[in-house]
Amino acid sequence: MAKLYYYYGTMFSAKSAKLLIMVYNFRERGLRPLVLTSGLDDRFGEVGEIHSRIHGLSCKALTVSSDTDILKLADFENERYDIIVADEVQFFGKQHIEQLADIVDNFNINVFCFGLRSNYMGDLFPSIVSLMARADTIREIKTVCRCGHKATMNALLDENGNLIVEGNEIVVGDKQYAAFCRKCYNKLKNI
Ligand SMILES: [Zn+2]
Repeated sequence: MAKLYYYYGTMFSAKSAKLLIMVYNFRERGLRPLVLTSGLDDRFGEVGEIHSRIHGLSCKALTVSSDTDILKLADFENERYDIIVADEVQFFGKQHIEQLADIVDNFNINVFCFGLRSNYMGDLFPSIVSLMARADTIREIKTVCRCGHKATMNALLDENGNLIVEGNEIVVGDKQYAAFCRKCYNKLKNI
């Protein structure tokens, strides 16, 4: 039976690299992956392309925006996919998570979602609330804080390195971000 997977990690945990390796492996075996990403992410200059900082890998992806119906976007009536991978799912809507879960159940296709768990204020993204509740399998992609402990928090920093703790939920870009353990995050917060 197919499953809905959620692979989460902080910024800089090489989530996209893992996704791209997965896509590469499936294509090597002659299988057809459907690759999705958020229409919000233009960090690398082009919407609809997934890049990894580590490997210099990239691949094209269909973009999911607030009004996208994933079933229509990927033409499930006429196309056949062996696997679905979705990057930056924290920027998806709750409805997209439900659509992906329906695809798992109705088309018997494994769906692998990759994304952040919490925003820079330390709260779950709305789509992640849905995904955490619905995923069959949840796995953490680990990375380290500057102190050597596991990083679990995404911090948004101003030009002086101070923590920003309020503002728009979605701030796209990675220049101002850092991944910290909870202790280091809270230390910065209380300065
Ligand atoms: Zn730390």
